[in-house]
Amino acid sequence: MNYQRKRILLYSVLAGLFTILLLLVSIGLNSSGYPLQGSSPTPALIPHQVDAQIVESPSQALVEVYPLVEDKPALSVELTPAPPLLEEPKLPEPSSVTLNTYVPLPAPPTASAVKGAVQSTTRPTPLPSKISIPVLNYHSVTIDPGNVVVISPAKLAEQLAYLHDHGYTPVSLATFISLIEGEDVEAAPEKPVLLTFDDGYIDNYEQAMPLLAKYAFPATLFISPGMNNQEGYLNWEQIKKLQEAGWDIQPHGMTHPHLPRLSADQQAFEILEARKQIEEKLGTKADVYCYPYGEYNKTTLKLLKDHGFRYAFTIEQGNATNQQSPYLLKRHFINGEEGLKSFIRKLSTRD
Ligand SMILES: [Zn+2]
Repeated sequence: MNYQRKRILLYSVLAGLFTILLLLVSIGLNSSGYPLQGSSPTPALIPHQVDAQIVESPSQALVEVYPLVEDKPALSVELTPAPPLLEEPKLPEPSSVTLNTYVPLPAPPTASAVKGAVQSTTRPTPLPSKISIPVLNYHSVTIDPGNVVVISPAKLAEQLAYLHDHGYTPVSLATFISLIEGEDVEAAPEKPVLLTFDDGYIDNYEQAMPLLAKYAFPATLFISPGMNNQEGYLNWEQIKKLQEAGWDIQPHGMTHPHLPRLSADQQAFEILEARKQIEEKLGTKADVYCYPYGEYNKTTLKLLKDHGFRYAFTIEQGNATNQQSPYLLKRHFINGEEGLKSFIRKLSTRD
């Protein structure tokens, strides 16, 4: 065998071996599902792997999306703009709230309303019967002819004597509250009445206190502590003496403000600071309010409710009843120029 034939034979063998090798590789790759191109073991991407990272809901706008392959564009998420937040409709704040805004408690469910009950053993509870108590609204007790908010000591003495002689029982604020809440009905006096004095005039100490003491009548005094010590107004020492004599001391704003003209913060200060000072100075609860000038608005009512006041008195005319809002109790203004007949008529009111 010469050299030329050996080379031909060698090339043939190599070509044969290479062909066999190619065939084997081809068969092997086809059966494993890999593409023929390239023989590196890089795994193919799992279909939908990108989709698996897409946020489920387009509303989750803040979830970021990371594409797993560079040549595949990241799926964009259409962001639907959030609707504007619904604001509470703002009602215009009236300078005062009408009294008929109070909605009494709903009647208890009737038997027919209790559907599905096999046998109802509960009976509908009747609404509490109306409790109506006259609350008299005094201010200054001195001599000032022509001034309707001032009553003379002589006239006050006449009125107190009338109450005493005709079976009226002036009650403390605590007793008034328990009566209006329907507690202790059997122990209730036949003709209860609440005497209130507004503003904290010094004559309440000098004139009214001794007149009431004659009958051991309690009273309720609404003060504006910011006015204390000013000319004509009580100081804390006198207020303490009144308290010892059976007067309940309650807040009437710090400076006797027109509350509806103030911001909510200013109203809060007027109402809460007055209560705080009374409670700190006298060591008693001061959670029954009286509106200066009888003025209030929705903010005032909300403040009283939010801060745990139990009751508030207006200057709306009439008896206080358990069917009025606790923050809109009525009173009878005592006009210092009126005679005893008018006073008696107010006491006889049933509404
Ligand atoms: Zn007042």
